[in-house]
Amino acid sequence: MSEFVQLVKADNPGIMTLDGTNTWILRGPDAATSVVVDPGPNDETHLANILAVAGEVELILFTHHHFDHTECIDRLVELTGAPTRAIGEDWCRDADPLVDGELLNVAGLALEIVATPGHTTDSMCILITDDGSLLTGDTILGRGTTVIAHPDGVLGPYLDSLARIRELVLEGVAVRFLPGHGPVVDDPLPFVDFYLEHREERLDQVRAAVAGGASTPQEVVEVVYADVDKILWGAAELSVRAQLDYLNA
Ligand SMILES: [Zn+2]
Repeated sequence: MSEFVQLVKADNPGIMTLDGTNTWILRGPDAATSVVVDPGPNDETHLANILAVAGEVELILFTHHHFDHTECIDRLVELTGAPTRAIGEDWCRDADPLVDGELLNVAGLALEIVATPGHTTDSMCILITDDGSLLTGDTILGRGTTVIAHPDGVLGPYLDSLARIRELVLEGVAVRFLPGHGPVVDDPLPFVDFYLEHREERLDQVRAAVAGGASTPQEVVEVVYADVDKILWGAAELSVRAQLDYLNA
């Protein structure tokens, strides 16, 4: 995948977490410390696995605030004494909130923060500038598509974020995606194109459902997500609400 990255997968599989949360451990060549990204659930076995790989932790980062990425924050801070950072200030301990474009020199690596609001308002990607790995959190998953977590998640910014990621791929700046759930994406251009096409397709379907008489988010879900397992309809309704807001704006 990348010589600077190791994966410790959490044992929290589920409909929203796929095979579980991907906790990424970043470390430059010969660096004595590491960065932990999205440590995830507050599970002592998972935390022990993280520490076994990470050694001395210099910094903890969160791609966004969702529980499956942040739950262990207090326990991991207790175990490591490391500062934590994210775009959302509630997830920063002993450090400032991150901002778009911020450059971090940490654990022997140069990281760039790329704010990618949409899935949530505080979603971000992390670019390892040394090798072009882009940690995408839940903005782009390793398989399937993500949820626009209305009302925090908003579709317009999400489409802009996908377009921005696509630019990074086209420029050769980002060469692979390391997602918050699911496998590494080694061929990122068709994957981000699939994400953009999927969103356009869903928007067309939502427009058609509304034109056809669906008048509540639930009714739109029943039409547009008829092909999707009902267990996902709650999440689908969040995306539908985000899409209806977008279309009404
Ligand atoms: Zn997640």
